[in-house]
Amino acid sequence: MQFISEQVHQIDPAFSQKVKQMADTPLDRCYQCLTCSLSCPVAFAMDYLPNQIIRMVQLGLRKQVLTSSTIWLCATCETCVARCPQEVDILRVMDALREMALGEGEEGKEKVITTFNQTFLQSVRLLGRQYELGMLLLLKLKTRDLFTDLILGIKMLLKGKLKLLPTRIRGSKEIKAIFERTKGEV
Ligand code: SF4
Ligand code: SF4
Repeated sequence: MQFISEQVHQIDPAFSQKVKQMADTPLDRCYQCLTCSLSCPVAFAMDYLPNQIIRMVQLGLRKQVLTSSTIWLCATCETCVARCPQEVDILRVMDALREMALGEGEEGKEKVITTFNQTFLQSVRLLGRQYELGMLLLLKLKTRDLFTDLILGIKMLLKGKLKLLPTRIRGSKEIKAIFERTKGEV
């Protein structure tokens, strides 16, 4: 965990409003009780705790929020949402922040996760579902990390856990149309 460093020149006054609109949740109600962070199963790995992210959004610290590891490490488990006494939907906030980070090309500290996210979506867009082997190979090439988990991958392939060829679902055209319709939003 890090302390929030409030650098005046990095404040974006419109940031909080934009996140509020995208997440459609009452961010201003947060009174920093810390319940979300104390309940979060992955808080130990985050650079900023969930309650800190909410405070940073309120303060307009756009750059620090969009480049934080927290928005990518959030496991979307909804524990914080269930426990927040002020009904702040932190999960939707995290979703909105991830969308903004991708839209603004902010890869931050979790480059592998953002690359995985994009590769996964490419696969779903093309086939209507994920194609694990193709996705893994593309991810390896993009991250230039060819050998990590190579043995595990070969074992999975030999056991038939990874399919050699991709399959397309019946509604793949409809999935593609959804991607086209939401192009400007994602
Ligand atoms: S649980 Fe809700 S009110 Fe408490 S710090 Fe988290 S977001 Fe704020
Ligand atoms: S939804 Fe994300 S931030 Fe909230 S408790 Fe789960 S992992 Fe933590």
